[in-house]
Amino acid sequence: MIEPDRQIAQWIEETSFVDTHEHLIEESQRLSGVLDGFLSCDDWTYLFSAYVDSDLLVAGMPAVQRQSFFRPDLSSEAKYRLVAPYWDHIRHTGYAQAVRHTLRGLYGEDDLTAESLPRIAEKYRETVQPGFYRTVLRRANVEVCQVNSLQCIFMETEQPALLAQDLSILQFCRCSAADFARVETEISKRASTLDEWLDIIDFYFATYGPRAVAVKCQIAYSRALDFAPVTRAHASRLFPHHVGHRGHPLGSEDLKALQDFLFRYCIGKASECGLPVKLHTGLLGGHGLLQLARTRDNAADLCRLLLDFAETRFVLMHIGYPYEQEFIALAKHYPNVTVDMCWAWIINPAASVHFLKEFLVTVPANKIFTFGGDYLAVEPIYGHACIARRGIAQAVSELVAEGWIARAETPELIERIMRGNALHYFPNELRKHGA
Ligand SMILES: [Zn+2]
Repeated sequence: MIEPDRQIAQWIEETSFVDTHEHLIEESQRLSGVLDGFLSCDDWTYLFSAYVDSDLLVAGMPAVQRQSFFRPDLSSEAKYRLVAPYWDHIRHTGYAQAVRHTLRGLYGEDDLTAESLPRIAEKYRETVQPGFYRTVLRRANVEVCQVNSLQCIFMETEQPALLAQDLSILQFCRCSAADFARVETEISKRASTLDEWLDIIDFYFATYGPRAVAVKCQIAYSRALDFAPVTRAHASRLFPHHVGHRGHPLGSEDLKALQDFLFRYCIGKASECGLPVKLHTGLLGGHGLLQLARTRDNAADLCRLLLDFAETRFVLMHIGYPYEQEFIALAKHYPNVTVDMCWAWIINPAASVHFLKEFLVTVPANKIFTFGGDYLAVEPIYGHACIARRGIAQAVSELVAEGWIARAETPELIERIMRGNALHYFPNELRKHGA
Protein backbone atom coordinates (compact mmCIF):
# COMPACT_ATOMS: atom_id res chain seq x y z
CA MET A 1 0.00 0.00 0.00
CA ILE A 2 1.13 3.51 -0.84
CA GLU A 3 0.91 6.32 1.71
CA PRO A 4 -1.53 9.04 0.61
CA ASP A 5 0.30 11.98 -0.96
CA ARG A 6 0.16 14.88 1.54
CA GLN A 7 -0.45 17.57 -1.06
CA ILE A 8 -3.20 15.52 -2.71
CA ALA A 9 -4.83 14.87 0.68
CA GLN A 10 -4.74 18.60 1.40
CA TRP A 11 -6.39 19.49 -1.92
CA ILE A 12 -9.14 17.00 -1.11
CA GLU A 13 -9.58 18.47 2.40
CA GLU A 14 -9.99 21.94 0.92
CA THR A 15 -12.45 20.92 -1.81
CA SER A 16 -16.11 20.92 -0.85
CA PHE A 17 -18.43 18.07 -1.73
CA VAL A 18 -21.67 18.43 -3.63
CA ASP A 19 -23.55 15.70 -1.77
CA THR A 20 -25.81 13.88 -4.23
CA HIS A 21 -27.79 11.66 -1.84
CA GLU A 22 -29.26 12.01 1.64
CA HIS A 23 -32.60 11.19 3.31
CA LEU A 24 -32.45 14.09 5.80
CA ILE A 25 -35.65 14.86 7.65
CA GLU A 26 -36.43 18.55 7.99
CA GLU A 27 -34.37 20.47 10.53
CA SER A 28 -37.56 21.73 12.18
CA GLN A 29 -38.55 18.15 12.98
CA ARG A 30 -35.18 17.49 14.61
CA LEU A 31 -35.58 20.67 16.65
CA SER A 32 -39.15 19.80 17.69
CA GLY A 33 -38.11 16.34 18.85
CA VAL A 34 -41.45 14.94 17.66
CA LEU A 35 -40.81 11.23 17.20
CA ASP A 36 -42.00 9.15 14.25
CA GLY A 37 -40.60 6.34 12.11
CA PHE A 38 -37.92 8.72 10.81
CA LEU A 39 -36.95 10.41 14.09
CA SER A 40 -36.98 7.20 16.10
CA CYS A 41 -35.35 8.70 19.20
CA ASP A 42 -33.95 12.09 20.12
CA ASP A 43 -30.72 11.35 21.97
CA TRP A 44 -27.17 10.25 21.04
CA THR A 45 -28.45 6.84 19.89
CA TYR A 46 -30.03 8.57 16.87
CA LEU A 47 -26.52 8.64 15.37
CA PHE A 48 -26.54 4.84 15.55
CA SER A 49 -29.82 4.37 13.69
CA ALA A 50 -29.31 3.80 9.94
CA TYR A 51 -26.80 2.19 9.66
CA VAL A 52 -24.90 1.12 12.78
CA ASP A 53 -28.01 -0.61 14.14
CA SER A 54 -27.88 -3.06 11.21
CA ASP A 55 -24.29 -4.01 12.03
CA LEU A 56 -25.25 -4.43 15.72
CA LEU A 57 -28.01 -6.88 14.81
CA VAL A 58 -25.89 -8.75 12.33
CA ALA A 59 -23.17 -9.01 15.00
CA GLY A 60 -25.64 -10.77 17.28
CA MET A 61 -27.51 -8.12 19.26
CA PRO A 62 -31.00 -9.49 19.96
CA ALA A 63 -33.83 -7.57 18.27
CA VAL A 64 -35.47 -6.72 21.61
CA GLN A 65 -32.24 -5.15 22.86
CA ARG A 66 -31.99 -3.11 19.69
CA GLN A 67 -35.53 -1.86 20.25
CA SER A 68 -34.69 -0.88 23.82
CA PHE A 69 -31.54 0.89 22.64
CA PHE A 70 -33.70 3.40 20.73
CA ARG A 71 -36.40 3.78 23.40
CA PRO A 72 -36.94 7.41 24.41
CA ASP A 73 -37.55 6.50 28.07
CA LEU A 74 -34.36 4.48 28.72
CA SER A 75 -31.36 6.15 30.42
CA SER A 76 -28.13 6.72 28.50
CA GLU A 77 -26.30 4.42 30.93
CA ALA A 78 -28.75 1.57 30.32
CA LYS A 79 -28.45 2.11 26.57
CA TYR A 80 -24.66 2.03 26.82
CA ARG A 81 -24.75 -1.30 28.67
CA LEU A 82 -26.87 -2.73 25.82
CA VAL A 83 -24.58 -1.57 23.03
CA ALA A 84 -21.10 -1.96 24.58
CA PRO A 85 -20.48 -5.69 23.88
CA TYR A 86 -21.54 -5.34 20.24
CA TRP A 87 -19.79 -1.98 19.70
CA ASP A 88 -16.51 -3.83 20.15
CA HIS A 89 -17.47 -6.29 17.40
CA ILE A 90 -18.38 -3.65 14.86
CA ARG A 91 -15.99 -0.77 15.56
CA HIS A 92 -13.96 -1.35 12.37
CA THR A 93 -16.85 -1.44 9.89
CA GLY A 94 -17.46 1.57 7.69
CA TYR A 95 -20.81 2.23 9.40
CA ALA A 96 -19.16 2.42 12.84
CA GLN A 97 -16.09 4.29 11.60
CA ALA A 98 -18.37 7.02 10.19
CA VAL A 99 -19.91 7.43 13.65
CA ARG A 100 -16.48 7.41 15.34
CA HIS A 101 -15.23 10.16 12.99
CA THR A 102 -18.41 12.08 13.84
CA LEU A 103 -17.86 11.74 17.60
CA ARG A 104 -14.29 12.92 17.13
CA GLY A 105 -14.95 15.79 14.74
CA LEU A 106 -18.21 17.20 16.12
CA TYR A 107 -18.01 16.25 19.81
CA GLY A 108 -14.25 16.02 20.41
CA GLU A 109 -14.57 12.47 21.76
CA ASP A 110 -12.28 9.69 20.55
CA ASP A 111 -14.68 6.83 21.19
CA LEU A 112 -17.91 5.78 22.85
CA THR A 113 -16.91 4.54 26.34
CA ALA A 114 -18.56 4.47 29.76
CA GLU A 115 -16.41 7.48 30.61
CA SER A 116 -17.16 9.61 27.51
CA LEU A 117 -20.87 8.68 27.42
CA PRO A 118 -22.25 11.54 29.58
CA ARG A 119 -20.34 14.12 27.50
CA ILE A 120 -21.52 12.54 24.22
CA ALA A 121 -25.13 12.59 25.44
CA GLU A 122 -24.76 16.25 26.38
CA LYS A 123 -23.01 17.22 23.13
CA TYR A 124 -25.79 15.61 21.13
CA ARG A 125 -28.25 17.95 22.83
CA GLU A 126 -25.98 21.00 22.49
CA THR A 127 -25.53 20.39 18.76
CA VAL A 128 -29.25 20.31 17.93
CA GLN A 129 -29.80 24.08 17.64
CA PRO A 130 -31.53 26.23 15.04
CA GLY A 131 -29.23 26.36 12.00
CA PHE A 132 -27.31 23.22 12.95
CA TYR A 133 -27.82 21.55 9.55
CA ARG A 134 -25.87 24.34 7.92
CA THR A 135 -23.26 24.31 10.70
CA VAL A 136 -22.67 20.54 10.50
CA LEU A 137 -22.56 20.54 6.70
CA ARG A 138 -20.07 23.40 6.75
CA ARG A 139 -17.89 21.46 9.19
CA ALA A 140 -18.10 18.49 6.81
CA ASN A 141 -17.19 20.85 3.94
CA VAL A 142 -20.38 19.93 2.08
CA GLU A 143 -21.83 22.85 0.12
CA VAL A 144 -25.25 21.45 -0.79
CA CYS A 145 -27.17 18.16 -0.38
CA GLN A 146 -29.64 16.39 -2.60
CA VAL A 147 -32.35 14.87 -0.44
CA ASN A 148 -34.67 11.98 -1.21
CA SER A 149 -37.31 12.39 1.48
CA LEU A 150 -38.71 9.11 2.74
CA GLN A 151 -41.57 10.98 4.42
CA CYS A 152 -43.34 12.30 1.33
CA ILE A 153 -43.18 12.08 -2.45
CA PHE A 154 -41.68 15.56 -2.71
CA MET A 155 -40.57 17.47 0.39
CA GLU A 156 -41.39 21.17 0.37
CA THR A 157 -38.26 21.93 2.34
CA GLU A 158 -37.70 24.96 4.52
CA GLN A 159 -34.11 25.19 3.22
CA PRO A 160 -34.25 24.73 -0.57
CA ALA A 161 -30.86 26.36 -1.18
CA LEU A 162 -29.15 23.86 1.14
CA LEU A 163 -31.33 20.77 0.64
CA ALA A 164 -32.26 20.23 -3.01
CA GLN A 165 -35.03 17.63 -3.29
CA ASP A 166 -35.66 14.55 -5.41
CA LEU A 167 -39.14 13.66 -6.64
CA SER A 168 -39.80 10.06 -5.59
CA ILE A 169 -41.46 7.88 -8.25
CA LEU A 170 -41.49 4.71 -6.15
CA GLN A 171 -45.04 5.42 -4.98
CA PHE A 172 -46.26 5.78 -8.60
CA CYS A 173 -44.99 2.45 -9.90
CA ARG A 174 -44.74 -0.05 -7.01
CA CYS A 175 -48.55 -0.22 -6.65
CA SER A 176 -48.65 -1.21 -2.99
CA ALA A 177 -51.63 -0.30 -0.81
CA ALA A 178 -49.31 1.99 1.18
CA ASP A 179 -48.39 3.88 -2.00
CA PHE A 180 -52.04 4.55 -2.91
CA ALA A 181 -52.67 5.62 0.69
CA ARG A 182 -49.67 7.98 0.62
CA VAL A 183 -50.99 9.72 -2.51
CA GLU A 184 -54.45 9.98 -0.99
CA THR A 185 -53.01 11.54 2.18
CA GLU A 186 -51.00 14.05 0.19
CA ILE A 187 -53.46 15.21 -2.48
CA SER A 188 -56.81 13.64 -1.43
CA LYS A 189 -57.12 11.77 -4.72
CA ARG A 190 -57.77 8.14 -5.44
CA ALA A 191 -57.66 6.41 -8.84
CA SER A 192 -59.91 3.62 -10.02
CA THR A 193 -58.64 3.53 -13.59
CA LEU A 194 -55.18 3.69 -15.12
CA ASP A 195 -56.03 7.00 -16.80
CA GLU A 196 -56.90 8.54 -13.44
CA TRP A 197 -53.65 7.24 -11.96
CA LEU A 198 -51.62 8.69 -14.85
CA ASP A 199 -53.38 12.04 -14.30
CA ILE A 200 -52.16 11.93 -10.69
CA ILE A 201 -48.60 11.18 -11.82
CA ASP A 202 -48.84 14.05 -14.34
CA PHE A 203 -50.03 16.33 -11.54
CA TYR A 204 -46.98 15.52 -9.39
CA PHE A 205 -44.58 16.08 -12.27
CA ALA A 206 -46.27 19.37 -13.25
CA THR A 207 -46.31 20.61 -9.65
CA TYR A 208 -42.93 19.47 -8.35
CA GLY A 209 -40.90 18.65 -11.49
CA PRO A 210 -39.74 22.26 -11.96
CA ARG A 211 -38.37 22.32 -8.39
CA ALA A 212 -36.96 18.78 -8.27
CA VAL A 213 -33.30 18.07 -8.83
CA ALA A 214 -33.94 14.52 -10.09
CA VAL A 215 -36.39 11.65 -9.80
CA LYS A 216 -35.49 8.80 -7.48
CA CYS A 217 -36.63 5.19 -7.31
CA GLN A 218 -35.61 2.42 -4.91
CA ILE A 219 -37.91 -0.23 -6.36
CA ALA A 220 -34.88 -2.57 -6.45
CA TYR A 221 -35.76 -3.32 -2.80
CA SER A 222 -38.78 -5.29 -3.98
CA ARG A 223 -38.17 -6.50 -7.52
CA ALA A 224 -35.71 -7.00 -10.39
CA LEU A 225 -34.82 -4.06 -12.64
CA ASP A 226 -35.98 -5.83 -15.82
CA PHE A 227 -38.61 -3.33 -16.99
CA ALA A 228 -40.15 -4.65 -20.20
CA PRO A 229 -42.32 -2.62 -22.59
CA VAL A 230 -46.04 -3.11 -21.84
CA THR A 231 -48.88 -1.55 -23.85
CA ARG A 232 -51.14 1.02 -22.28
CA ALA A 233 -54.17 -1.10 -23.24
CA HIS A 234 -52.77 -4.07 -21.32
CA ALA A 235 -51.91 -1.93 -18.25
CA SER A 236 -55.42 -0.40 -18.39
CA ARG A 237 -56.95 -3.85 -18.08
CA LEU A 238 -54.71 -4.76 -15.14
CA PHE A 239 -55.01 -1.57 -13.08
CA PRO A 240 -58.64 -1.84 -11.89
CA HIS A 241 -58.01 -5.41 -10.72
CA HIS A 242 -55.07 -4.21 -8.77
CA VAL A 243 -56.80 -1.39 -6.92
CA GLY A 244 -59.44 -3.86 -5.86
CA HIS A 245 -62.44 -2.68 -7.85
CA ARG A 246 -62.94 -6.02 -9.51
CA GLY A 247 -62.24 -8.12 -6.52
CA HIS A 248 -59.20 -10.25 -7.37
CA PRO A 249 -55.62 -9.08 -6.84
CA LEU A 250 -53.03 -9.52 -9.56
CA GLY A 251 -50.66 -12.46 -9.71
CA SER A 252 -46.95 -11.71 -9.69
CA GLU A 253 -46.62 -11.71 -13.48
CA ASP A 254 -49.47 -9.25 -13.97
CA LEU A 255 -48.21 -7.05 -11.15
CA LYS A 256 -44.79 -7.00 -12.81
CA ALA A 257 -46.39 -5.94 -16.10
CA LEU A 258 -48.31 -3.12 -14.41
CA GLN A 259 -45.18 -1.94 -12.59
CA ASP A 260 -43.18 -2.15 -15.84
CA PHE A 261 -45.69 0.09 -17.61
CA LEU A 262 -45.87 2.63 -14.77
CA PHE A 263 -42.12 2.74 -14.27
CA ARG A 264 -41.53 3.38 -17.96
CA TYR A 265 -44.28 6.00 -17.95
CA CYS A 266 -42.47 7.81 -15.11
CA ILE A 267 -39.13 7.61 -16.93
CA GLY A 268 -40.82 9.22 -19.93
CA LYS A 269 -42.20 11.99 -17.73
CA ALA A 270 -38.78 12.57 -16.13
CA SER A 271 -37.23 12.94 -19.59
CA GLU A 272 -39.93 15.41 -20.64
CA CYS A 273 -39.08 17.49 -17.56
CA GLY A 274 -35.33 17.18 -18.20
CA LEU A 275 -34.84 15.37 -14.90
CA PRO A 276 -32.19 12.69 -14.42
CA VAL A 277 -33.32 9.33 -13.02
CA LYS A 278 -31.56 8.04 -9.87
CA LEU A 279 -31.91 4.31 -9.30
CA HIS A 280 -30.98 2.29 -6.24
CA THR A 281 -28.74 -0.60 -7.27
CA GLY A 282 -26.77 -3.18 -5.32
CA LEU A 283 -26.83 -4.00 -1.61
CA LEU A 284 -29.98 -3.28 0.41
CA GLY A 285 -30.06 -1.35 3.67
CA GLY A 286 -31.34 -3.08 6.79
CA HIS A 287 -30.79 -6.79 7.42
CA GLY A 288 -32.33 -10.08 6.39
CA LEU A 289 -33.80 -8.70 3.15
CA LEU A 290 -31.16 -9.28 0.51
CA GLN A 291 -32.04 -11.56 -2.41
CA LEU A 292 -28.58 -11.74 -3.89
CA ALA A 293 -29.61 -13.49 -7.11
CA ARG A 294 -31.85 -10.54 -7.95
CA THR A 295 -29.24 -7.94 -6.93
CA ARG A 296 -26.60 -9.76 -8.95
CA ASP A 297 -28.64 -9.15 -12.09
CA ASN A 298 -29.18 -5.39 -11.55
CA ALA A 299 -26.61 -4.24 -14.12
CA ALA A 300 -27.59 -6.80 -16.76
CA ASP A 301 -31.31 -6.14 -16.23
CA LEU A 302 -30.85 -2.40 -16.75
CA CYS A 303 -29.39 -2.66 -20.28
CA ARG A 304 -32.81 -2.81 -21.92
CA LEU A 305 -33.91 0.37 -20.16
CA LEU A 306 -30.66 2.19 -20.97
CA LEU A 307 -31.15 1.38 -24.65
CA ASP A 308 -34.88 2.13 -24.81
CA PHE A 309 -34.43 5.48 -23.04
CA ALA A 310 -31.21 6.53 -24.73
CA GLU A 311 -31.98 10.23 -24.24
CA THR A 312 -32.67 9.86 -20.51
CA ARG A 313 -29.81 10.36 -18.05
CA PHE A 314 -29.53 7.62 -15.44
CA VAL A 315 -27.64 7.77 -12.15
CA LEU A 316 -26.85 4.29 -10.86
CA MET A 317 -26.40 4.53 -7.12
CA HIS A 318 -24.17 2.81 -4.58
CA ILE A 319 -21.84 1.45 -7.34
CA GLY A 320 -24.11 -1.63 -7.50
CA TYR A 321 -22.02 -3.12 -4.67
CA PRO A 322 -20.89 -5.94 -4.60
CA TYR A 323 -21.07 -6.04 -8.40
CA GLU A 324 -19.27 -2.73 -8.99
CA GLN A 325 -17.21 -4.07 -11.90
CA GLU A 326 -20.39 -4.40 -13.93
CA PHE A 327 -21.28 -0.79 -13.20
CA ILE A 328 -17.88 0.35 -14.48
CA ALA A 329 -18.76 -1.53 -17.68
CA LEU A 330 -22.18 0.17 -17.95
CA ALA A 331 -20.71 3.66 -17.41
CA LYS A 332 -17.94 2.88 -19.89
CA HIS A 333 -20.35 1.72 -22.57
CA TYR A 334 -23.55 3.77 -22.25
CA PRO A 335 -23.45 7.54 -22.77
CA ASN A 336 -26.53 7.94 -20.52
CA VAL A 337 -25.04 6.27 -17.40
CA THR A 338 -23.37 8.04 -14.48
CA VAL A 339 -22.35 6.18 -11.32
CA ASP A 340 -22.86 7.59 -7.82
CA MET A 341 -20.61 6.40 -4.97
CA CYS A 342 -23.18 7.48 -2.37
CA TRP A 343 -23.35 5.10 0.61
CA ALA A 344 -20.54 2.95 -0.87
CA TRP A 345 -17.71 4.42 1.26
CA ILE A 346 -19.27 3.11 4.47
CA ILE A 347 -20.51 -0.20 3.03
CA ASN A 348 -16.96 -1.18 2.09
CA PRO A 349 -14.30 1.54 2.31
CA ALA A 350 -11.51 -0.61 0.86
CA ALA A 351 -13.57 -1.82 -2.13
CA SER A 352 -14.58 1.80 -2.78
CA VAL A 353 -10.93 2.89 -3.04
CA HIS A 354 -10.31 0.10 -5.49
CA PHE A 355 -13.47 0.93 -7.44
CA LEU A 356 -12.54 4.61 -7.79
CA LYS A 357 -9.04 3.75 -9.01
CA GLU A 358 -10.37 1.43 -11.69
CA PHE A 359 -13.18 3.79 -12.67
CA LEU A 360 -10.85 6.75 -13.24
CA VAL A 361 -8.64 4.88 -15.70
CA THR A 362 -11.59 3.24 -17.48
CA VAL A 363 -14.50 5.69 -17.72
CA PRO A 364 -14.56 9.40 -18.70
CA ALA A 365 -14.04 11.44 -15.52
CA ASN A 366 -17.30 13.39 -15.86
CA LYS A 367 -19.36 10.24 -15.21
CA ILE A 368 -18.94 9.87 -11.47
CA PHE A 369 -20.21 11.53 -8.31
CA THR A 370 -18.13 10.65 -5.27
CA PHE A 371 -20.22 11.50 -2.23
CA GLY A 372 -23.62 11.00 -0.67
CA GLY A 373 -24.02 10.09 2.99
CA ASP A 374 -27.43 8.41 2.61
CA TYR A 375 -28.49 9.47 6.14
CA LEU A 376 -31.65 10.62 7.90
CA ALA A 377 -29.54 12.45 10.51
CA VAL A 378 -27.23 15.28 9.49
CA GLU A 379 -24.43 14.61 12.03
CA PRO A 380 -22.93 11.39 10.58
CA ILE A 381 -22.56 13.06 7.17
CA TYR A 382 -19.48 14.59 8.82
CA GLY A 383 -17.95 11.17 9.55
CA HIS A 384 -18.94 9.67 6.21
CA ALA A 385 -17.32 12.63 4.42
CA CYS A 386 -14.07 11.99 6.39
CA ILE A 387 -14.03 8.39 5.14
CA ALA A 388 -14.83 9.45 1.56
CA ARG A 389 -12.05 12.09 1.56
CA ARG A 390 -9.59 9.58 2.94
CA GLY A 391 -10.61 7.04 0.27
CA ILE A 392 -10.38 9.54 -2.57
CA ALA A 393 -6.94 10.63 -1.34
CA GLN A 394 -5.84 7.00 -1.24
CA ALA A 395 -7.18 6.21 -4.73
CA VAL A 396 -5.73 9.33 -6.39
CA SER A 397 -2.38 9.01 -4.58
CA GLU A 398 -2.02 5.41 -5.72
CA LEU A 399 -2.85 6.31 -9.32
CA VAL A 400 -0.16 9.01 -9.22
CA ALA A 401 2.45 6.82 -7.49
CA GLU A 402 1.82 3.99 -9.94
CA GLY A 403 2.24 6.36 -12.86
CA TRP A 404 -1.29 6.23 -14.27
CA ILE A 405 -2.09 9.90 -13.67
CA ALA A 406 0.28 12.88 -13.56
CA ARG A 407 0.37 14.69 -10.23
CA ALA A 408 -0.11 18.05 -11.97
CA GLU A 409 -3.45 16.85 -13.34
CA THR A 410 -4.91 15.88 -9.99
CA PRO A 411 -6.28 19.24 -8.70
CA GLU A 412 -8.63 19.51 -11.67
CA LEU A 413 -9.63 15.87 -11.41
CA ILE A 414 -10.38 16.20 -7.69
CA GLU A 415 -12.54 19.28 -8.24
CA ARG A 416 -14.51 17.44 -10.91
CA ILE A 417 -15.27 14.26 -9.06
CA MET A 418 -16.07 15.93 -5.72
CA ARG A 419 -18.30 18.77 -6.95
CA GLY A 420 -17.92 19.93 -10.57
CA ASN A 421 -19.52 16.86 -12.15
CA ALA A 422 -22.64 17.16 -9.99
CA LEU A 423 -22.95 20.91 -10.56
CA HIS A 424 -22.84 20.41 -14.32
CA TYR A 425 -25.06 17.35 -14.39
CA PHE A 426 -28.02 18.57 -12.34
CA PRO A 427 -29.51 21.56 -14.13
CA ASN A 428 -31.33 22.91 -11.08
CA GLU A 429 -28.15 22.79 -9.06
CA LEU A 430 -26.38 24.78 -11.75
CA ARG A 431 -29.04 27.48 -11.73
CA LYS A 432 -28.97 27.78 -7.94
CA HIS A 433 -25.22 28.22 -7.80
CA GLY A 434 -25.36 30.71 -10.67
CA ALA A 435 -22.58 28.87 -12.48
ZN1 LIG B 1 -30.68 6.16 0.02
